[in-house]
Amino acid sequence: MLQYLIFQRKNVEQTLSIIKPDAVKQGFESQINERFEKSELRIVKQKKLHLTKEEAENFYAVHKERPFFNALVAYMTSGEVIVQVLEGENAVMRNREIMGATDPKAAAPGTIRKDFGQSIEANAVHGSDSLENATNEIKFFFGD
Ligand code: ATP
Ligand code: MG
Repeated sequence: MLQYLIFQRKNVEQTLSIIKPDAVKQGFESQINERFEKSELRIVKQKKLHLTKEEAENFYAVHKERPFFNALVAYMTSGEVIVQVLEGENAVMRNREIMGATDPKAAAPGTIRKDFGQSIEANAVHGSDSLENATNEIKFFFGD
């Protein structure tokens, strides 16, 4: 038993979260942060900022060819966002689970997007979708 305790390693990860303009404007910050804390995702870094067009375009560069790209950039620059580093066991996938599906209408009950999202675009939060993207996105906002 002692050996088991000593050798059992938790898979602690960091992931990038963004509370998006719609959620910030409606004052959902503390309620969303409570969801993270309840799921044992610790907020280890956090800053509020207003993305420039260039920053939003760079952050969402993978979606450049998508029909919703210009609208997405306009939306993400429409107000302040809160950028966060969340840390915890399996943080990347755990955060994706509690965020819920991209479209709040399709998101499971009790998820952040179901409870705080307005539409498929204004869906309250962003969360990195892989450990590799998490590393790059954290670097993008917080440096090394
Ligand atoms: P995110 O990357 O923000 O965590 P996601 O991984 O669930 O969300 P993506 O497919 O990466 O979804 O899309 C990025 C963002 O682009 C979405 O969160 C949403 O704000 C917007 N978006 C996605 N699909 C659409 C769409 N069909 N119409 C309008 N906006 C969209
Ligand atoms: Mg995504």
